[in-house]
Amino acid sequence: MDRAANAQLMDQLQTGVVLLDDRGCLLSWNAWMTRHSGIAPEDVAGRPIEDVFVEMKHSRLLNCIQQALRFRLSSVLTPGLNPSVLPLYQKPGDRELDQRMQQLVYVTPTCSDPYACLIQIQDMTATVRRERRLRAQSSQLIATTYRDSLTGVGNRRRFDQDLSERFREARSRQIHIALLMIDVDDFKAFNDRFGHQKGDEALIMVASALQEGLRQEGDCISRYGGEEFALTLLGADQEAASTVAERLRLRVEGLRLLHPTSRTARHVTVSIGISAVVPSMELPPQTLVSQADLALYSAKDRGRNRCMCFDHTVTEVRACV
Ligand code: GH3
Ligand code: MG
Ligand code: MG
Repeated sequence: MDRAANAQLMDQLQTGVVLLDDRGCLLSWNAWMTRHSGIAPEDVAGRPIEDVFVEMKHSRLLNCIQQALRFRLSSVLTPGLNPSVLPLYQKPGDRELDQRMQQLVYVTPTCSDPYACLIQIQDMTATVRRERRLRAQSSQLIATTYRDSLTGVGNRRRFDQDLSERFREARSRQIHIALLMIDVDDFKAFNDRFGHQKGDEALIMVASALQEGLRQEGDCISRYGGEEFALTLLGADQEAASTVAERLRLRVEGLRLLHPTSRTARHVTVSIGISAVVPSMELPPQTLVSQADLALYSAKDRGRNRCMCFDHTVTEVRACV
């Protein structure tokens, strides 16, 4: 095939092709390059590539070209690590918006005199966009997997994960972990009085009040089940956990959600059971749940709308505040 036929073939390619001589000067520049750079072949012929693209000085691409020319090494620049290496644009309007094409660039040494280095550029914009969209969808899906669909706080799966991860961390760092079990008082009576829809609305408000009452980043209220919520606190001893629990209890009380058939108060309230430990090797995370549960039962026994702690020294529950 003669030179003209070669050039014609190069111009039909749907990728950018640039050929350099052994000094890094441009010998060939196909139609794809002209289309996407806006620079004609006659404007680049014989010029060093870094003169054509001034921003290439000290760039990773120039480094790769030098490695190809000096050491005959090939390189690939992927859009993930080197997005938009060259000022190339899919459509003319993209230049004004500074929306560069995402590129996959191959730099290959050649041994076909006078050519010394071949640069191939592929448009990866659609692929990168699709990947971004998929990644966003997948993070959204993961978030949904851990969110309670009614209240928007964490679900049981989120709680189980929080507990096991935080328990493991507390054990390895030998620090406290606390668990709060929070149960809405006389909630059956609330449903009986107002219906399940109003009951659902009340649960949503209680969940938001609890979540908004947290101050430590990463802390998350989860719906343990029914009208019961749970919260783990890393690094909180019994006293610190009691302070948080009392704050949460008061926030729910502060909602002033009318509950005329409650045995406890005239509005919706919660009882909270607390357990805090520095985990030993033998202690399973479930112990923390059983202990907080015991404390919660005790809070119910003593009249509800209160926080109770599981006390390790006398294995007995006492009022925190
Ligand atoms: P206590 O103070 O002893 O906790 O009394 P309680 O009535 O809250 O406890 P009980 O376990 O007898 O009843 C819990 C109620 O919570 C019964 C159930 O209808 C209600 N409940 C659980 N999940 C939901 C829910 O998703 N929506 C609504 N509206 N109600 C729920
Ligand atoms: Mg209840
Ligand atoms: Mg309950």
